[in-house]
Amino acid sequence: MRFADLVEVYDRIEATTKRLEMTELLVGLVRATPKEDLARVVYLTQGRIHPDYEGIELGLAEKMVTRVLAHATGLEEARIQRMWKEKGDVGLVAEEAIATRRQKSLESTPLTVAKVYENLDAIARESGEGSQERKIRLLSDLLGHASPREARYIVRMVVGKMRLGVADMTIIDALASTFATKADRDRVERAYNVCSDLGEVARVVAAKGLKGLDEIHLKLFRPIRAMLAERLETLEAILERMDKAALEYKYDGLRVQAHVSPEKIQLFSRHLENITGQFPEIVEGLKTAVRDREAILEGEAVPVDANTGEFLPFQEVSRRRGRKTDVERMAKEFPVTLFAFDCLLRNGEDLTPRAYSDRRKNLESMMKAAEGIRLSKVHVTSDVKEAEAFFDEALQAGCEGLMAKALDSRYEAGARGFQWIKFKKEYSAELNDTIDLVIVGAFAGRGKRAGSYGALLMAAYDEKADVFRTTCKLGTGFDDETLRTLPERLKSRRRDRRPPRVDSKLEADVWFDPEAVLEVRGAELTISPVHTAAWDAIRPGAGLAIRFPRFTGRWRDDKGPEDATTVHELLEMYRGQLKQTKKPVPRSA
Ligand code: AMP
Repeated sequence: MRFADLVEVYDRIEATTKRLEMTELLVGLVRATPKEDLARVVYLTQGRIHPDYEGIELGLAEKMVTRVLAHATGLEEARIQRMWKEKGDVGLVAEEAIATRRQKSLESTPLTVAKVYENLDAIARESGEGSQERKIRLLSDLLGHASPREARYIVRMVVGKMRLGVADMTIIDALASTFATKADRDRVERAYNVCSDLGEVARVVAAKGLKGLDEIHLKLFRPIRAMLAERLETLEAILERMDKAALEYKYDGLRVQAHVSPEKIQLFSRHLENITGQFPEIVEGLKTAVRDREAILEGEAVPVDANTGEFLPFQEVSRRRGRKTDVERMAKEFPVTLFAFDCLLRNGEDLTPRAYSDRRKNLESMMKAAEGIRLSKVHVTSDVKEAEAFFDEALQAGCEGLMAKALDSRYEAGARGFQWIKFKKEYSAELNDTIDLVIVGAFAGRGKRAGSYGALLMAAYDEKADVFRTTCKLGTGFDDETLRTLPERLKSRRRDRRPPRVDSKLEADVWFDPEAVLEVRGAELTISPVHTAAWDAIRPGAGLAIRFPRFTGRWRDDKGPEDATTVHELLEMYRGQLKQTKKPVPRSA
């Protein structure tokens, strides 16, 4: 297939604003494409050359491309730079530059789709010493033969800015309408959900028709598209719908799909990027945790504070992205725990058609204890009261809420349905201001903090009762020096027993007279069955807690304990902000 024919369709796709018209253009394109070129056309149309999970990406620096353009056209680099500034799109710069250069020699061979794909693939794979030079040569080779319009798209692909806006589902529509009937569209989509590779689906359906798609199975090291959840507003509604359900803690972290074999382990994100390099501690943990030879597992990765045992905001981990050299250090500082919640493949057997309860049994029997790997907490019930108690427990553990799963449901790749229903906490409100809290207790440190305190127990002031009621454990935001000197600094206030003016359900390792005030920044206020601030005020049997508290570094020596933030203020903040947001607080990451 000539590349010019493909580019003509791109031009028309770019000009349309109607989704229907776009689908028609794509259907025309798929029909006109020879079978052997179809996979390449599918990848190129999406601005990639391989499925995302393979991690083979284009993305040359635009600056480098302008240099190649200068070289290929004989125009001055400064002029190309000026054009780039004006147009802001190197694709358009390439088009104009090629148009203004001298006429192509007549014998120049026209570009084919295969040739363009081959060179782009080679550019993406080049690495190591001398690779820049080789990339430049491969790109010059293409531009030397390209028409102005072809150059526009080649350059956009090369810098990773193709952006035709063609969604996966539109390509699936086009494939279905060419090789199947409308009624069979779901089979095409299913194949895609299982293999996450539209090029592969195109190749198979073009060569073998619909029947061929049934041969696409779940495979180790090729991620499956994740099953998604619906949402309902109450636990009652959920249990009405499912009757009996498996309720699991809903951890607030990053979804991880782990592919495990004796030779290697790979991790994929919810968007199917390969994230193995970002989580060495999960890879290590899985080596011990998985008893079986082969497995595909799913779980949620959450950073855990080694000292408080509490979850940390996910930002602590997302900073690892793209910082290869720091990963090892960060993995030590903020290690994540993987809470495994599903098992999709075991020793070559695809478990996705099996019922949830069966998969869960498999999951439990194939895992053994290992550092950093745990099973998601689950409770099977049809009783609303029991469900509510489990929900409170989940919040207390620092989770977002619960995930309800139908016991007889199969794993539906890529689908959002009521087989999984999420229920997030409604009782929470964002915190914008810092607050001042009083130190009333401390917990012994572990690991790096051995010998000092791992976390402090913090309280707000209750004016009416003239007591201090706890609202969080504080273990984040301390620099090494502060940590080291904490015991000395607090020594004079230390008590062996809980001081009478402190109201706490938690048993601290050491207690302090409520005197020292620290400035604290928190993410939000949430109800809590362990902290005593505003007890019973919002819900019977629950108080208010600060989620993700962090010491700002400021000791409020200017404040006495009675000047600290009061329980009444916390309540006001909670109520005021709940009104403003009126929705569950967004995920922290
Ligand atoms: P949401 O992102 O709010 O739509 O909720 C769905 C996400 O919750 C999933 O994609 C997972 O990343 C996460 N999650 C946390 N805990 C669980 C669990 N026990 N089962 C399934 N998903 C979970």
